[in-house]
Amino acid sequence: MNALLPDPALPPLAAKAASLNASYRHHSATDVLVRALKDPEVGRLALVSSFGAESVVLLHLVSVIAPHTPVLFIDTQMLFPETLAYQRNLAARLALTDIRVIRADAGEVWRDDPDGTLHQFNTDACCTLRKTVPLERALRGFDGWITGRKRFQGTTRAAIEFFESEEEKRLKVNPLAHWGRDDLEDYIVNNRLPRHPLVARGYPSIGCAPCTSPVKPGEDPRAGRWRGSAKQECGIHFVGGKVVRGPLPHPDQADGLTATKETAA
Ligand code: SF4
Repeated sequence: MNALLPDPALPPLAAKAASLNASYRHHSATDVLVRALKDPEVGRLALVSSFGAESVVLLHLVSVIAPHTPVLFIDTQMLFPETLAYQRNLAARLALTDIRVIRADAGEVWRDDPDGTLHQFNTDACCTLRKTVPLERALRGFDGWITGRKRFQGTTRAAIEFFESEEEKRLKVNPLAHWGRDDLEDYIVNNRLPRHPLVARGYPSIGCAPCTSPVKPGEDPRAGRWRGSAKQECGIHFVGGKVVRGPLPHPDQADGLTATKETAA
């Protein structure tokens, strides 16, 4: 079969993702992003950004290619004040013109987490309330979203491709999938981009304040996220079409795995 033609054995969106991956296998992050943002075949995309430790790279790339791209920023209302300030400063400096701040529905927060302590006893439910559900709502009307996920970030991301089908609902585009830490560092230095202020204080990966701690030298950069728990990602995982909590099974055990859904970090 011609690798560039959609595979008729796959569902339509998975076939489109496979075809795009075949076309862009040897291309750069910039090429993938240009294609994703300008090709009508890919459709309407939003960039989802946490404005975390490495987010500036993808935000800068998008600002150069298409600064009017909608950028969805999920304010869980549990973020560090430094993240909120960095988000405002970076959006202005990069001249991103369509920042959309996404928050959980106030009524749902009042019902499920009235005193703001849900994260202390059920982090999955808290992430669902404050991240996954608001993101799902915000993505309605888009054909896909751009994430900053990289393969080096851990076992749950080790095999991600440039283009993925998210449950046949929309495309997920991961332009930096093949970048390493050195690539990110070089890009930030060469383009003189501002870093998140908490990076210098020992936070190489930054999420919500209650669930992020500094990392010691030699530790995995994501060791400070949900420290002491098995949780590795923000989102709900879908296995065999059913919602499951907790870390994904090893790939060898993942019969029926249909999709991994997570917010960009
Ligand atoms: S990272 Fe922590 S505080 Fe933030 S939404 Fe998830 S559980 Fe809640």
